[in-house]
Amino acid sequence: MELSISNLKSLSNHFSRRQESIVAFARALVETESPSGDDAGSKAVVGLLAAAAQTIDGVEVELLATNNYGQHLRVTAVGDAPHAAPIMILGHTDTVHPRGSLAQRPWRVEANRAYGPGVFDMKANCALAVEVLSACVAHRFHHQHPIVLLLTCDEETGSASGRALVETEARQSHAVLVLEPPASGGRVKTGRKGTGMFTIEARGIAAHAGLDPEKGASAILELARQTEHLHTLNGWSDGISVNVGVFNGGTLSNVVASEARAEVDVRFSNAAEAARVEHEIMNLRAFDERVGLTVKGGINRPPLERTEKVLKLYEQARAIARALDFELEETQVGGASDGNFAAAVGAAVLDGLGIAGDGAHATHEHIILDDIPRRGALIAALIASL
Ligand SMILES: [Zn+2]
Repeated sequence: MELSISNLKSLSNHFSRRQESIVAFARALVETESPSGDDAGSKAVVGLLAAAAQTIDGVEVELLATNNYGQHLRVTAVGDAPHAAPIMILGHTDTVHPRGSLAQRPWRVEANRAYGPGVFDMKANCALAVEVLSACVAHRFHHQHPIVLLLTCDEETGSASGRALVETEARQSHAVLVLEPPASGGRVKTGRKGTGMFTIEARGIAAHAGLDPEKGASAILELARQTEHLHTLNGWSDGISVNVGVFNGGTLSNVVASEARAEVDVRFSNAAEAARVEHEIMNLRAFDERVGLTVKGGINRPPLERTEKVLKLYEQARAIARALDFELEETQVGGASDGNFAAAVGAAVLDGLGIAGDGAHATHEHIILDDIPRRGALIAALIASL
């Protein structure tokens, strides 16, 4: 559907009128703490969102139970073409902030900013998503494609339970709009690195460090050499980053260490890099053949690659933003989201469409209130245009 400038302006005015209620709803969500894995917190926050979604005409609201993570929420607006590929709005209801964070940093509004644990990543965006869905149904933007709003509850801990759900929905989607926080300046994310996590254990031979050191084989020395080797993988390409972030081993200073352990974080920009770096790490060979190495782990999230599909969606969003009088810029980032899983199954994904702000996972986390109307209008108009 083509949107005229006057339609866009009226959408923007609609979200301006709704701004106060969106902020009030965001506050209620922030004040219901829901760190990942907090079953009661998850159910409470999903309960608020489900109740809000129930007020939208003709939608189906489903609470999807998990083992110990609380609930995922799926809201479907079917419209006039029930068999067309749906447009998915994707996000999550869990946060990284433990219970008690709210007491230390209560909700506050100051100089066009709203602060609170999880407000930017991404409770205000959950509130906005329900408003966008509501506006889309009211304007019949779902007449060509059904709209599915999926909010998972374990994104911050790697989506052990949400992943399959995201992939299943994404596979059949016409497009996936991820309402994760944008980068600085409100930039959307057209690329996200994939992530991998590995643990390396070395088993050497203990010996007295003074009496007969030659009989020992140091697990610490072996892992130190491996650490140096692993960091050289950073030079393979710009897309690859490897970091040994945890290292421990040994017992006493006068014993040649028989045990050592390292944890490795790996990032990559495309599937070929992922395969190459994973193969290298899984097949590490000991420098000292008397030391045994065990490598566990692997790739967790595949990369969100900046494909033609992603770019096309971005260009479409950028054109709408221009008509709304703002410049929507793009960037590629190292951090992953559920958008990675959606992109990896072949969906057209645009990530970082949420409200501008700063401080995800940090104590100064906030959103910029002025950005709400134009974000809402942008997302709703993008849905209408797809
Ligand atoms: Zn997030």
